[in-house]
Amino acid sequence: MKFSEVLGNEQAIGQIRRMIDADRLPHALLLYGEPGVPKLSLAMAAAQYLHCTHHTDGDSCGVCPMCRQHQSFNQVDTHYSFPFTNRKGDSTNPCSSDDYIDEWREFVTRYPVEDYQAWLGLLKNDNAQPQIFVREAENIIRKMTLSAYTAKYKVLILWLPEKLKEEAANKLLKLIEEPYDDCKFILVSNNEKGILQTILSRCQRIELRKPSTPMVAQYLVNRYGMEMQDALALAAPADGNVNMAERMVQTGSEFHEFRERFIEMMRLSYQHDLALLKGWSEVIAEMKREKSRRFLDYAVRQVRENFIYNLHCRDLNYLTREEEAFSTRFSPFINERNVEGIVAELERASADIAGNGNAKLVLFDLTIRLSILIRK
Ligand SMILES: [Zn+2]
Repeated sequence: MKFSEVLGNEQAIGQIRRMIDADRLPHALLLYGEPGVPKLSLAMAAAQYLHCTHHTDGDSCGVCPMCRQHQSFNQVDTHYSFPFTNRKGDSTNPCSSDDYIDEWREFVTRYPVEDYQAWLGLLKNDNAQPQIFVREAENIIRKMTLSAYTAKYKVLILWLPEKLKEEAANKLLKLIEEPYDDCKFILVSNNEKGILQTILSRCQRIELRKPSTPMVAQYLVNRYGMEMQDALALAAPADGNVNMAERMVQTGSEFHEFRERFIEMMRLSYQHDLALLKGWSEVIAEMKREKSRRFLDYAVRQVRENFIYNLHCRDLNYLTREEEAFSTRFSPFINERNVEGIVAELERASADIAGNGNAKLVLFDLTIRLSILIRK
């Protein structure tokens, strides 16, 4: 992984690059930020840059033997530690991260932006909470007390230190506090508040920021071959959470369905045909509770987007091409007299469904209110 492949966070990249150039990378560096913000890639890029023998334009070269080893996750002085579940839940026979190295390689290869949900899927153990156990802490100590083989520094990339069991964290403390000269720890956290204070206080911290919507959209274009307009429409509601944006791409069929349902809802409301509205409500009520709420979130977003469309602020608009085709005709019906009222009704319906309200009644009531508001 090269710095140039990391999404966003140019400032943090510059800071880390300068530390390495000056041979002042701290013994323990913590990269933290919200879930869905790319962080692991920066840790891997930093390790590769630290080891690369031919720095080129402020980045690792990508072709020297060290870079090649990094790119194939075979660099002997680079270790990874991460939360996992003990296989079969057998506490008398606990595992180490080495037992999960195949799953880990698959994870970092398949998911350029680390996604904890995807990691849970790869661990194939739905019942247990992944943690970093004492045996793994001992494993880390063993690896980090060996001399570096091929490089000046050994690196441990520890993903999710907030999952360290207290006993495991206590074992690691001394190593982090008084490390060997050739040890570098890079900790990568989704929730720095969940890290034990004793560990946290020994780390130099860098907060990583959410990538911008255009940046996330460009990532979706590159990875999924989408059109930029469609990618922007998916990236905007994800608000810098790349995991969420990717899930929206993967559940694209749901969005297609939501778009159709939204168009029906608005048409039938305008026609004020109570029998058809009742039928429509019953169809939506058949959805699982969470799905019907996702639909209502989608509807809120569409109403707001159509209001903006109507104001001719196209550069503020995030609509897919298909959505836009409907908006050219529909947007005039959303105006300053009804936009907030419609949004409030959709949000109220979502809250009522969350609170175990009868979905059929809630949705039918919603459409009747919409049919009054849409004519304002
Ligand atoms: Zn290199």
